[in-house]
Amino acid sequence: MNIILLGPPGAGKGTQAQRLMATRGMVQLSTGDMLRAAVKAGSPVGLQAKAVMDAGELVSDAIVSALIGERLDQGIGGGAIFDGYPRTAAQADALDALLEARGLTLDHVIELEVDEAALIERVEGRYTCAKCGEGYHDRFKQPKVAGVCDVCGSTEFKRRADDTAPTVKARLDAYHAQTAPLLPYYKKQGLLRVVDGDRDMDVVTADLERVLGV
Ligand code: AMP
Repeated sequence: MNIILLGPPGAGKGTQAQRLMATRGMVQLSTGDMLRAAVKAGSPVGLQAKAVMDAGELVSDAIVSALIGERLDQGIGGGAIFDGYPRTAAQADALDALLEARGLTLDHVIELEVDEAALIERVEGRYTCAKCGEGYHDRFKQPKVAGVCDVCGSTEFKRRADDTAPTVKARLDAYHAQTAPLLPYYKKQGLLRVVDGDRDMDVVTADLERVLGV
């Protein structure tokens, strides 16, 4: 099964994708993660993408679609969870072509619907364990022992460079201008499902599992 998770920054796409990977043997294809890895490695793509990402704007369609094509060619196990891709109409067209060329299809496009008034605080306060990736939040979810990861015991944590209020605002603007128009595109094809993302993470996961079925 291949699905897209759609929703603004901070809607919980990454968290839910991680959970579906664990329960369903699917793989998360996050263009944001791929681009951050490229920036960290200092590759040509990373050098080109860094300033755009820091400004909260969108990296070129050609770059991200090429990353997705390369990743699809490495195999997708129990199915792909597209997280943060596609983000524009051109990327949606590119994805259709990439899937078709590989004999793959899209099963569901799931919109994680959230109250945007709360998003800036939600994104600004988030951080992860630098070792295992467990997610935390300054207000909503702190480690049980201050400064120590609940899952792996590491004492190192990291924050995304673009999780600051002005950048989140720009990312939200980009979402409205370029990504939200994909919702009617997928609705017309009968692929769109809407899940209320403003609930406890476990409740959202249960709802997603129900939508995806067995
Ligand atoms: P994300 O981790 O999905 O929030 O993405 C972080 C940043 O990477 C975005 O603000 C964009 O600058 C860039 N990015 C990630 N995915 C895409 C995409 N599909 N198209 C264009 N830019 C992207």
